Amino acid sequence: MYDVIIIGSGPAGLTAAIYTTRANLKTLVIAGGKWGGQLMLTTEVDNFPGFPEGIQGPDLMQNMRKQAERFGAEFVDEDFDGGDFSPSAHSTGSGQAGSGQAGKSFKVKAAGKDYSGKSIIIATGADTKWLDVSGEKEKIGRGVSSCAPCDAFFFKNKKVIVVGGGDSAMEEAIVLANFAESVTVIYRGEILRASQIMQNKAKKNPKIKFIFNTVVTKVLGEEKVTGVELKNNKTNEISKMDIDGVFVAIGHIPNSMKFKGIDLDEKGYIKVQDHTRTNIDGVFVAGDVHDSYYRQAVTAAGFGCAAALEADSYLRGQE
Ligand code: NDP
Repeated sequence: MYDVIIIGSGPAGLTAAIYTTRANLKTLVIAGGKWGGQLMLTTEVDNFPGFPEGIQGPDLMQNMRKQAERFGAEFVDEDFDGGDFSPSAHSTGSGQAGSGQAGKSFKVKAAGKDYSGKSIIIATGADTKWLDVSGEKEKIGRGVSSCAPCDAFFFKNKKVIVVGGGDSAMEEAIVLANFAESVTVIYRGEILRASQIMQNKAKKNPKIKFIFNTVVTKVLGEEKVTGVELKNNKTNEISKMDIDGVFVAIGHIPNSMKFKGIDLDEKGYIKVQDHTRTNIDGVFVAGDVHDSYYRQAVTAAGFGCAAALEADSYLRGQE
């Protein structure tokens, strides 16, 4: 029986593990077959405090994991299969399922094996929605990005595109315009989905241009991005554009589907009540699986810390 089971091993999960182990709570991290989260897919991380020369994303995650392991966190490098957190599924010390009494525990599964914990921290993150076109995946970190605040600096005086028509796309374009020579927003529709205020900000920036009714059909280049192939979805005309960077801002997919009994909002993010609590007492949440707004490694780490403190205080209340 673990005091805390943390599901997910990005900055939120690993920071939570550092805090729970330091609070002397027996901690298991269900890290996933591909542990480490989105930062494992990036190269240089220049905006995580404490690294004046920057740090490679995978190195940062390795450091966080080592730090959690130093204090005794146990890891299962297997994918989380799911868990039923609905009140009727909890077991309790008194044997009364769902009574909410002291001794409550939760059962979760990873690679077919059951694990029990007195509390749970869900930190499964969100996945960037990618375009899924040829040449894209292999150039992530080599010209393809989904985070302008992280990577805009590398596109100083270069030509970039942003794909999408929502607030994220506008925000990415505005951030990029501080560095890039030109920013072109490629939008599949005709009327941007972004809020008027964000559209206006982007539209009045002289570096930002828009191409409507157009999709990216290929990302071009061998080692790094050198251009894109575009298709006008009204005329079916195919064209090529020489650019150095592709910023994909077409939304995110929160990894929230395997938690039975946990309330989600209309976009599938876990609903937070009162800081990091979910609707189920003893189940906490941290990071991009609930935060559709900031989505930064450092904010996820902050949420991980908060969830760990809340779990600790919950467990002390159960004693
Ligand atoms: P949204 O879902 O709002 O927008 C996604 C955009 O990507 C849409 O324009 C959509 O097109 C387009 N799109 C989706 N799939 C594809 C595809 N396969 N190919 C091409 N284009 C595609 O996501 P955001 O990340 O922009 O925003 C998420 C939430 O966060 C929103 O509620 C937003 O308001 C909020 N937010 C607020 C900010 C702020 O206020 N400063 C900043 C950033 C986000 P279509 O329109 O045709 O569906």
